Amino acid sequence: MKKFGYVSVEHYVPFMQEFAEELEKGNIIATKCKTCGTEYFPPREECGNCYSTDMEKIKIEPEGTLVTYTIIHVPPESHANMAPYIVAVGEFNNGLRTMAHLVGVTSMDDLKVGRKIKIVVQKLENDRIVYKFVPA
Ligand SMILES: [Zn+2]
Repeated sequence: MKKFGYVSVEHYVPFMQEFAEELEKGNIIATKCKTCGTEYFPPREECGNCYSTDMEKIKIEPEGTLVTYTIIHVPPESHANMAPYIVAVGEFNNGLRTMAHLVGVTSMDDLKVGRKIKIVVQKLENDRIVYKFVPA
């Protein structure tokens, strides 16, 4: 099954399918290493810090803060028809940071670093799913 993202990453498919199914229900699932405590979103099955595979799932709230962003004018081929678009780094309220497209921007106020943003789920064609930031 290939559900998450614009393109599939084959070796993550079973794990990412479960992640995508939770996203569809509105559950934002991260993982936390039981050995060293490092958290990951998108979730990972193994820890990039200590290489442990003893991970637990944690649910995080969709709200966060805009840390930084960039506007992409020269996109990769898979995103050719989207440019220009905004890629942002957001920080969730638990301190975990992630990168996603920022959509729904209607004024420069929406691009102020430190403003509130949140993750929303977007369904694509062919039963695929992605998450994006929107101004909150
Ligand atoms: Zn670890």
